[in-house]
Amino acid sequence: TDGIRLNKYIANAGICSRRDADIFIAAGNVTVNGKVVTEMGYKVSLTDDVKFDGRSVNPDKPEYFVLNKPKGIYVTGSTEKGGRTVMDIMAKATKAKLDPVGKLDTQTMGLLLFTNDGTLAKRLGKPRNGIRQIYQVNLTKPLALADLEKIREGVYLEDGKVNVQDISYIANRPKNEIGLETNSTRNHVVQRLFKSQGYEIEKLDRVVFGGLTKKDLPRGRFRRLTDQEVINMG
Ligand code: URA
Repeated sequence: TDGIRLNKYIANAGICSRRDADIFIAAGNVTVNGKVVTEMGYKVSLTDDVKFDGRSVNPDKPEYFVLNKPKGIYVTGSTEKGGRTVMDIMAKATKAKLDPVGKLDTQTMGLLLFTNDGTLAKRLGKPRNGIRQIYQVNLTKPLALADLEKIREGVYLEDGKVNVQDISYIANRPKNEIGLETNSTRNHVVQRLFKSQGYEIEKLDRVVFGGLTKKDLPRGRFRRLTDQEVINMG
């Protein structure tokens, strides 16, 4: 490859906008391999050491966001469906290339983590690493106590047993409203779990993901993780 333009390189690192990068480059704030470069079109190669005000520029600094996904928004980028995707929302977050950690179904709402940190994304995506998740589930009919207890003990689906850390009726609510804690990240696992017992889901909302809770993050909005939240994810 013939590299990436210096102004873009600096903007991608999240230091400033591309226009401001032009100004800083022209002003002599940027060095490549120890020499001041004032040409904004300079092509940075993989082996170049770029410094801004004497500090190394890392274009892949890890970034972490959490989105409170609304209903009806696709997680995959499949454009043939023509619908809005979470990436349309996250485009406003950063110039870094974010990916969602795992999936939520289109009709599912709630917390979805995004990062450009491929190592973390891979690790959390593996079911055996069991990230703690709590779902608020609204069924189309009340859940019988016997079925609730069956699910708590562990139902076997075609891809194995679904570990349920906790399941309960939501206090002071009709008996079709359920809280479910699981560490499974298998595809459609909550849907399949209830379907196996003869129930249909009307509304599914992930309210806890790892150490992240919704707190006051409105539907459709994202926020950066705090440093402490990033540490807790690791
Ligand atoms: N389980 C599901 O069935 N759907 C989701 O979106 C997440 C977990």
